[in-house]
Amino acid sequence: MVRYVYDFAEGGRDLAGLLGGKGANLAEMTRLGLPVPPGFTVTTEACRAFFSAGSEPDGLAEEISGHLTALEKAAGRKLGQPDDPLLLSVRSGARFSMPGMMETILDIGLGDDSVLGLAKVSGNERFAWDSYRRLVQMFGSTVMGVDSALFESALSDLKRDRGATDDLGLNAADLTDLVGTYKALIRRETGEDFPQSPDEQLRRAVLAVFESWNGERARIYRRREHIADDLGTAVNVQTMVFGNLGSDSGSGVAFTRDPATGRPGLYGDYLPNAQGEDVVAGIRNTVSLTDLEELDPVSYAQLRGHMETLEAHYRDLCDIEFTIERGRLWMLQTRVGKRTAEAAFAIASELVDEGLISPAEALGRVTGGGLARLMFPRFDTSAVGESLAHGLPASPGAAVGAAVFDSAEAVRRAAAGEQVVLVRQETTPDDLPGMIAAQAVLTSRGGKTSHAAVVARGMGTVCVCGAEEITVDATGRRFTVGETVVEEGTVISVDGSEGTVFLGAAPLVDSAVMRYFERGERSAGLVESVADAMEQADRTARLEVRANADTPEDAARARRFGARGIGLCRTEHMFLGERRKLVEAMILARDETERKDALGALLPLQRQDFIGILEAMDGLPVTIRLIDPPLHEFLPDRTDLAVRIAAAEARGEHPDPHDTELLGAVNRMHEENPMLGLRGVRLGLVVPGLVAMQVRAIAEAVVARTRASGSPEAEIMVPLVGAVEELRIERTEVERVLAEVSEETGVAVHCPVGTMIELPRAALTAGRIAEEAEFFSFGTNDLTQTTWGFSRDDVEAAFFSAYLDKGIFATSPFETLDRDGVGRLVRIAVDEGRAARPDLKIGVCGEHGGDPESVHFFHEAGLDYVSCSPFRVPVARLEAGRAAL
Ligand code: PEP
Ligand code: MG
Repeated sequence: MVRYVYDFAEGGRDLAGLLGGKGANLAEMTRLGLPVPPGFTVTTEACRAFFSAGSEPDGLAEEISGHLTALEKAAGRKLGQPDDPLLLSVRSGARFSMPGMMETILDIGLGDDSVLGLAKVSGNERFAWDSYRRLVQMFGSTVMGVDSALFESALSDLKRDRGATDDLGLNAADLTDLVGTYKALIRRETGEDFPQSPDEQLRRAVLAVFESWNGERARIYRRREHIADDLGTAVNVQTMVFGNLGSDSGSGVAFTRDPATGRPGLYGDYLPNAQGEDVVAGIRNTVSLTDLEELDPVSYAQLRGHMETLEAHYRDLCDIEFTIERGRLWMLQTRVGKRTAEAAFAIASELVDEGLISPAEALGRVTGGGLARLMFPRFDTSAVGESLAHGLPASPGAAVGAAVFDSAEAVRRAAAGEQVVLVRQETTPDDLPGMIAAQAVLTSRGGKTSHAAVVARGMGTVCVCGAEEITVDATGRRFTVGETVVEEGTVISVDGSEGTVFLGAAPLVDSAVMRYFERGERSAGLVESVADAMEQADRTARLEVRANADTPEDAARARRFGARGIGLCRTEHMFLGERRKLVEAMILARDETERKDALGALLPLQRQDFIGILEAMDGLPVTIRLIDPPLHEFLPDRTDLAVRIAAAEARGEHPDPHDTELLGAVNRMHEENPMLGLRGVRLGLVVPGLVAMQVRAIAEAVVARTRASGSPEAEIMVPLVGAVEELRIERTEVERVLAEVSEETGVAVHCPVGTMIELPRAALTAGRIAEEAEFFSFGTNDLTQTTWGFSRDDVEAAFFSAYLDKGIFATSPFETLDRDGVGRLVRIAVDEGRAARPDLKIGVCGEHGGDPESVHFFHEAGLDYVSCSPFRVPVARLEAGRAAL
């Protein structure tokens, strides 16, 4: 029989799938003997069963009640017992952390009788009524569906009435009244009374947490973080402990190292006389743990010890939530903590130095996505003026955007293409869409563990929080710093690494990590950590990394970034700019002589390009692709031309004869779906002389480099092949020209000839195609387009956002390879290609070659290399290493 409930003492960290991250770690801490308030976890399986049955799964109620009885027995009191109530918290806890996205209900068990008992045993009447009003408020909104704003406004009305500036200004009698107001509100809104039965409260709270898995906030968050929708959440039911019992109580959050920089040392925020929720919500500004050491040295020393235990046990940065109840320390949560990219690299290196983990494990702790973030530019501090304000550097990076004051405005402006900075007093989960849309988040309240900080860090969005000098006037849509008023739409710059805010757009400089890749500069600690990871990745990787580069400059940069050759040199990029005219002349050629002249003019230019690239990549393979795009791409726009001619005629002038001739050619070449017309190998087969010119340019460049004592390794690649016959004919022509140049120059030119696999038919007939191809390179851009039938130039703007919303895919298939469809074709082509030609070299040169998740797929599929744009080469190297772990 399936079990739906596990006591904390029964679980462990390896059960995170079943118990959720929080439940598994609570169990782990319990087993380590740390002071965890007792409780139990309702499994994710129960949640999934709830959704598939549409109601509470059979047997769940009995299991919960069995575990509750055991809990009560151990505590020596019963849930909601009138004279001394046991109270419970009910919290969500999914497999992957989703901070603040689902529901929590505290103080379950309180009712009209037990609130009096609690007042008596705690000796604190105000505390008891405050707990009760929190329960009624949370239960009312979360479980009973009353709009939370109604509770908020009842609370502010009361504070105004009593002249109180914050919650602490309300006394026990005020809070007693507030409970009455809340209960009346619930009755009015739902027609139902707030339930007095503790068992009913517990049961409904558990189900409400299940429901919150499918709440809008949670769904948006999962989509953004690529968390599957069908995992479900676990629910943790735990004995309440109270941080709001007076000045010897409090709640805090702590990290075993600084999650922003990775520096070792206990680090965190503490809020005296408060519950954990108050810390995260940024309701009051917190104090540091150093202050806690002064306030309560005993608890501090214990906390320190427990955190050392946890870090040694998990062998990683841990974060925890803790509460001190009248001088007694309780551990409420731990997990391997989220961290910035900078901290991830720094911590991985340090843990290796400390002998806690191996270099291979360290490589598993960093990501290509994080590395990419570290390669971003930062503000040039020498060029920016006085800063406008300072806050806490909560999520690093530099961002510039127009200040906006609510989530909806951020979303609206971002959709219109504007860069925005979301400025709030503090953020709540309702601000999530705006935080996603914004370049940066700036808050005037809250610590580094406030909602804004935690969520922004997770998303890699720049964030400065707790900038106290700022007064945010969300209604007036402005913020002020002293005399300076910043109205909505004003551009500001936010430096999340330093915690500073500037008026206007601050100038940017490149990052130290980028300088390391560009110039080999090994400066600060961070760069050393990145270098460690890169070295380990290169030692581990099986996949080679090449670059897509079309100029000597790009080739040289790619080589500095560690590329082991060029996987795609798109020769058509050499036909742009000034040279476009020459291509135009070739297209317009009326006879053989004119065509030869045009091609003859292009030849030396192409040859020179190839010499430069082969020189930059001397000794490494350079895959040169023969011309691919349809020729009309080199001609002027059809409408522009037609308008020019019509305008001339309307003025009574003769149109420029060149324009008329061009329009004729453009009309001839026009295609309805240009990506599927006369392009790729088809061009080479039907446009006389084009391929011969390109191959001659390559061959002559090889000769020139050989004569200059270089080691040119050119490979010739034919695009968009769908049938082996196409490749056979083209290859014969390529080899004819290679032989011709060898003969003329006396230098033997050998270039392997291969093909791109970018049409489903090519993948499906790869065994045949391999007879003529010495290598394959997957063109996954076209392969994605042709497998899905998605026009790569039209779909992203047209409907991809709707597809993402509907969950048809989690990321664009043009960004991350679609394993099931396109990936299947890749596997077929690899298997059948290698069966026909065992030494077939196979790579990929579509955009996916630099996408971390796709790199892992290409590793699994047995490719030899990935090729990507030069700036993504370091990311691909790192991921190629990680894929081989
Ligand atoms: C591809 O299709 O993946 C490819 C690399 O070629 P292009 O993007 O130039 O069509
Ligand atoms: Mg292509």
